Amino acid sequence: MGTTTRHRAVARTIAAIGVVSLVAACADNGGAGGGGDAGNYPDQNITIVVPFSAGGPTDTVTRMIADPMAKQLGGKIVIQNVEGAGGTVGAGEVARAEPDGYTVLMHHIGMSTAPALYKNLGYKPVEDFETVGLVTEVPMTIVARKDFAPATLPDLVSHVKANADKVTLANAGIGAASHLCGLLFQEAAGVKLQEVPYEGTGPALTDLVGGQVDFMCDQTTNTSGQISAGKVKAYAVTTPERVKSLPDLPTTAEAGLPQLQVSVWHGLYVPADTPEEIVQKLSEALKAALADQAVIDQMAKLGTAPVPAEDATPQAHRAHLEEQLGTWSKIIADAGVGVS
Ligand code: ASP
Repeated sequence: MGTTTRHRAVARTIAAIGVVSLVAACADNGGAGGGGDAGNYPDQNITIVVPFSAGGPTDTVTRMIADPMAKQLGGKIVIQNVEGAGGTVGAGEVARAEPDGYTVLMHHIGMSTAPALYKNLGYKPVEDFETVGLVTEVPMTIVARKDFAPATLPDLVSHVKANADKVTLANAGIGAASHLCGLLFQEAAGVKLQEVPYEGTGPALTDLVGGQVDFMCDQTTNTSGQISAGKVKAYAVTTPERVKSLPDLPTTAEAGLPQLQVSVWHGLYVPADTPEEIVQKLSEALKAALADQAVIDQMAKLGTAPVPAEDATPQAHRAHLEEQLGTWSKIIADAGVGVS
């Protein structure tokens, strides 16, 4: 695809989605073209594409790091929510964007599950992107509407088995972390439920609080506030250890479902062939953001933490992505989940 066509494709998406928010930054130097000139980078606004809805967990983590990254880079970062199809629409847009460092993707574990779940994905996670660095690994929680009958995780399993035709399970589309966790739950419980897809778990959680859907899995970065406020019922956290900020919530292993273990790693990407110097600048900015005390504190409140500095590198991120692609393709194949 030529440069102009690429720019047009991104512009079309931006116009179609229309959810743009500016993140504060120190210098107003946006607008002037800089292309792939690594020495002057950045000399125009950088867009971080979030492939899920505004207000959800991927968006939340992106907004935490965007401002300190922009400060380190001496530029402006704009966040663009390009939702749809479990994060694959936004990821596809970035794969096809100009490799000049001005279009960046924040994605999560879904980068490693999508190839096993989609027949015509339209991009290759390893070949079509440069990895910038890992960001954070977030526990998931199993949460339900406040007045949902089951009181504990074993109760939830019995309830969904007895009411499989009535219970609704929300997720953020095929390949999303919530979808994946929901699959593992159904597999562990030996049941097939009616799934309700959203474009992100931000709106899914709103519906859960409103009682329109019964339950879902989602990152602590989205559910912590509603759990602490008693607006949703929480059954368990899906990591081997309890989460410090939610100390009363048992782990799935403690609550009798040890097979259900998943945490959601996030990473930053740019299109393949982005100059190495630009990838390095972004990676250094990411490292600086993850060392920022305000970011550390915000993440801790929401049940997570930045990755260690050595993992916020292109090399560590690439190795993790490759390992996760292998792991999840096997789990998904073994679970016999259909490819759409
Ligand atoms: N938590 C969502 C997921 O299920 C994504 C999001 O809305 O950020 O993958």
